[in-house]
Parts: sequence; structure tokens; C-alpha cells
Amino acid sequence: MSYKAEYIWIDGTEPTARLRSKTRILADGAEPPVWGFDGSSTNQALGHTSDCVLNPVFTCPDPIRGGDHRLVLCEVLLPDGSPHPSNTRSELSAVSERFEDQEPIFGIEQEYTFFKDGRPLGFPSGGFPAPQGFYYCGVGADEVYGREVVETHLDACLNAGLAISGINAEVMPGQWEFQVGPVSPLAASDQLWVARWLLYRVAEDFGISATLDPKPVKGDWNGAGAHTNFSTRAMREGYDAIITACDALGERAQEHIKGYGAEIEHRLTGMHETAPWSEYSYGVSDRGASVRIPWQVAADKKGYIEDRRPNANCDPYVVTRLMVDTCCAALEKAGQV
Ligand code: ADP
Ligand code: MN
Ligand code: MN
Ligand code: MN
Repeated sequence: MSYKAEYIWIDGTEPTARLRSKTRILADGAEPPVWGFDGSSTNQALGHTSDCVLNPVFTCPDPIRGGDHRLVLCEVLLPDGSPHPSNTRSELSAVSERFEDQEPIFGIEQEYTFFKDGRPLGFPSGGFPAPQGFYYCGVGADEVYGREVVETHLDACLNAGLAISGINAEVMPGQWEFQVGPVSPLAASDQLWVARWLLYRVAEDFGISATLDPKPVKGDWNGAGAHTNFSTRAMREGYDAIITACDALGERAQEHIKGYGAEIEHRLTGMHETAPWSEYSYGVSDRGASVRIPWQVAADKKGYIEDRRPNANCDPYVVTRLMVDTCCAALEKAGQV
């Protein structure tokens, strides 16, 4: 007997990488081996030296094919075994190893938008639906579009064993969210990439596409983000560490903005529950701040913070690496570990 291994990897498209995958048939019980692909078709190599290496980093049951079939998330290496320039995971791996004693964990809220026939699901042809107001966490055929796809995706993620913690309908018609975590930086990022792949794959069967475009409709419509919730052991135990992390993020704000996804200026305008990309702020319960301290955290004097800036199209390997690097280094320096 044999099984199908769906090898998934992140390509070299700029400014926003895309997911790719292909299937390999493996003998029953065989561990997925290192494999290769033609990097000249994925913006990862020139035609004359086109071999790139797929190195498996995370595998789970394949909920689409079922049975013993598996999904195999890979990082991309050069033929000499070093990380490919597009491989942002290897840097996160080094940073999270350096700070693993602080036990950082992440919960990422992935927002996205369904499209069909060139417009968001629920938008009438040649016009706009009723303004925002009733779609967020709505119910009923006049408010909710694509629930069948969303439920199928949720089941797929759960059957794959991913740490999905919830879903909700978002502020614009056809816009939704799922949350991954809280788990370690590498687990949250690997699982988010696999959950994104499953989203595209599930929606494909419904003839619908899903996009992580941070501002899919211009004008008075919410953009799509990837709020990133973060804590270390010290933050889960006391408030001083929460404040240290918030202040540290302010000191490297522009470096973070640059790593939080292409076209972030179009989304972080200061309107639609965002803070302007050019100004850093944090506050309790403040959904107009860059970083929010949830009210429960302020009440308990411990917990986690929510960085509201990352775009839906961000690379979680980059976002979690920046946050661990900035916050854990500051906590270490302050002796709050
Ligand atoms: P919001 O109110 O911003 O919409 P959500 O419920 O969508 O919040 O998401 C909150 C996220 O925070 C979840 O992914 C959850 O797993 C995560 N989370 C909860 N506690 C922690 C923690 N201590 N550290 C990091 N993330 C956490
Ligand atoms: Mn949310
Ligand atoms: Mn949301
Ligand atoms: Mn949020």
C-alpha cells in the first residue's frame, strides 16, 4: 500500500509570496523524504540552475484526501543545504531557539475575503451592498456569505490537527476570520501557512477564491488584518512585563511595519479600527491603537498583548520573529524573564 503526500511550500513571489504544492506517492509508513522542484517557475531560481530543495518541517493528516494521506509543509533550501533567500522560517527558527526559555506563544487572527466573479462574495454585480454594520458576527442569508465554505474549512483544519481556536464573520460581506493558537512561534506560523493552503483548497471546490489582500475594496470598507496575540511566561505572570513588551515594540515600530505585509499603508490609515502606520501607540481595550492590551489582561494584571498592525497578507515567520526578537530581548535586558 502507499499514501499521497502533498508537499506544500512558500514560493519567491514578491512582494507577497504564494503557496505551491505537488503530490508524491510514498510507501506505507515511509517518512516524507527531502524532495526538489523547478525554482525557475516559482521566482526562486534562474533557468540554468533551477533545482531547489524541499525540506519537510511539519506534517499532518490530509483532511481533503482523508485516509492515510498527509500534508507535508516544507522549507526551501539551496542544493548545498543552506536556506534559500526566500526561506524566512530558518531565521525564525534561530531566534525562537535563542529565546525559548521565555516560552513565547502566539495566537494569530487570520482575516480573509472570498471572491467570486471578480467581486467579494455578497457584493451585487455593478454596485455595493448595504454599508457595514450588520455583517460582523452576523446570521442570515442577507448578512452572511460563504458560511458553507467556512465550516468546511474549519472541519478540515480540525481534522488536520491544527490548533484552530475559533472563527467569525467579519465587518465586510464575504470577509471572515479564523484564529490559530496560542502555540509556539514556529507552530503558529507553520500551522497558519497550512490553514491558508487548506482555505484556498477548500474554497476551490466551491468555485470561490479566498484572498489575503489587506484592502480588497477601497473606500469605506474594512481592510483585512492578522492581529497577532503574543505572550511570554513573564507576561502571563505579571503586568510589568506586559508594559515592557509594549514599550519595546514602540522603539522598533518602523522596522516592524516594514515586515508586517505589503501595502500596509493602505490598511493602517487610522480609520476602520486601525492606528496610522506612521504612529505607534498602545492602550487598554483600544482598537484604535497599534497594540491593544485586552481589558481582561489589565484587570488581571497579566496575560498577553495584541499587535493589531500585521496585514492579512503578512508572512507569520517574519511577524513572529520580529515580535520575539524585540520583546524577548527587551524583557531579558530588563531582567523580567
Ligand atoms: P479579538 O477580540 O481581537 O477578535 P480573538 O478571539 O479573535 O480576539 O483572538 C484572540 C487570540 O488570542 C486567539 O488566537 C487566542 O488563541 C490568543 N491568545 C489567548 N491567550 C493568549 C496568550 N496568553 N498568549 C498569546 N495569545 C493568546
Ligand atoms: Mn478576532
Ligand atoms: Mn477580526
Ligand atoms: Mn483582534
